[in-house]
Amino acid sequence: MIELQSYLEGAWITGKGSKREFVNPTSGETLGILRSGGIDATAAINFSREIGGATLKQMNFAQRGAMLNAIADALISNVGEYEDIARRNSGNTSRDAAVDIQGGIGTLKYYARLGKKLGDTQYILEDGEDLLTKAGDFKLRHFWASRPGVAICINAFNFPSWGLWEKAAVALLAGVPVIAKPASSTAWLSEQMVRDVIASGAAGEGVLSLLCGSADGLLEEVKPFDHIAFTGSAETGRIIKAHQSVLSHSPRLNIEADSVNAAILGESSEAGGATFDLLLREATNALSIKAGQLCTNIRRILVPAKNAQTFADALAAKIDTITCGDPADESVRLGPLVNRAQQQAALEGMQQITSEAKTLRGGNIPAQVVGADAAKGAFVEPTLFLAGKAGDLSAVHDVEIFGPAITILPYQSMDDAIALAARGGGSLAVSVWCDDVAEAACLAGGLAPYHGRVLCIDPEIGKGHTGHAIVMPQGVHGGPGRAGGGEELGGLRGLRFYMQRTAIQGQTGIFERLGAVSANVQL
Ligand code: NAP
Repeated sequence: MIELQSYLEGAWITGKGSKREFVNPTSGETLGILRSGGIDATAAINFSREIGGATLKQMNFAQRGAMLNAIADALISNVGEYEDIARRNSGNTSRDAAVDIQGGIGTLKYYARLGKKLGDTQYILEDGEDLLTKAGDFKLRHFWASRPGVAICINAFNFPSWGLWEKAAVALLAGVPVIAKPASSTAWLSEQMVRDVIASGAAGEGVLSLLCGSADGLLEEVKPFDHIAFTGSAETGRIIKAHQSVLSHSPRLNIEADSVNAAILGESSEAGGATFDLLLREATNALSIKAGQLCTNIRRILVPAKNAQTFADALAAKIDTITCGDPADESVRLGPLVNRAQQQAALEGMQQITSEAKTLRGGNIPAQVVGADAAKGAFVEPTLFLAGKAGDLSAVHDVEIFGPAITILPYQSMDDAIALAARGGGSLAVSVWCDDVAEAACLAGGLAPYHGRVLCIDPEIGKGHTGHAIVMPQGVHGGPGRAGGGEELGGLRGLRFYMQRTAIQGQTGIFERLGAVSANVQL
């Protein structure tokens, strides 16, 4: 049986406390264990801050970018092994695994290129200056410098690769050492990846540490210049926000939480037309890729009332073509959820929705699956609900079913669609599917205050887009309100979390000298 280790203070160590098991969700078989406790959190965090911090301080942006590139290359050589772990421990089909593994590697490569562009500097000087007095040469500009703390990166179970690397890439490029804490149920993939990166020598001394097991003790050690980048449920987010160290020391805290995201079919899109079909295809993906376990996934589809039943019938027919079962079987599009606890949570969520909407498909554990025993695995049927008067309902807007389930909601007008989408209380992503660009632009403007990202699809770009759920490193990721109120990625914008932006006031000579050692950027 595998026992996962942590990489702290530059060495692999085994925890000593109570053990937690992780499983193969297809068969229910136990794959391995990890133990919490027995870790000197003070020493671990000091090591990262001091040794990792010193390593990064000696490097400029270009060198840190080269390090990210080397990390990505170390991972690329082992992708086959990662896919195998993702299949066994996360129940991923090869398509699911690619979203997580290639997504992580792609984000590292993107930030590596950004580092190269920033060049041999360590600071950022924002373009543009304000003259503060009428006479003389007294000016103000904004200057970014790396903060001297550590980045504690706590991740959710559904992205053991992407979640790890999208956070580490930004922190390391910004010059801040990382302690990554993956979710226990899928930490195996994160552990193997960090093991390969450390063995390759790609990461400088102390810059990358890993804690497998509970985060107990780590948050107690947080100091004012540290950072906590958290991804997970709103409930855990609230616990972290209220932690005594966070309240006392005000480290930077970013929360990426859950979300009941929507997709909207525009009034300009006819039933059976190209845009209607594109949304059908996207919804089918949302019900199968990673078994619906993506934070950005479509949970609600808002359809003009006149077309709601037609769309629901067409999606139900698509659902009938989805094969559920062992992700190793090539015919399978929908694997299991990550474990029985998540299966139970998804079924409970579905139960709540049934009080408000009609179940058109699914809602249960499948009677049979391909290549596995449905009673032993963590399978859930692809599920479709159709609601009536969406404005009067609450569960359909409030309950995040973290699995393969979608509710179709009819709407009456554009304003109604925007108001219904906003009932999610703040979401990570919304998509609009319109034939008419003017309609899409109006929707995008109206939806923006409630969402971190708006994807606009029409037939012209329909075949080439990146998808509703996929987060691109060029754009900010994170949503307001319920989604946590955080912001990650977004190219250079992501570095801001790990760098102090300081308003510098002085004469032109000051800015000439700072400009000589900084990357000048326009934001
Ligand atoms: P979770 O139970 O909240 O756990 C998230 C992480 O927090 C895990 O690493 C967990 O460790 C850790 N944790 C738990 N209690 C903690 C505490 N008291 N102090 C510090 N860390 C603690 O969430 P999950 O079940 O893994 O993930 C599913 C949720 O994440 C969904 O709601 C989904 O929407 C959300 N999510 C959001 C995003 C986003 O970008 N916004 C992305 C992915 C997922 P252990 O596993 O060891 O308990």
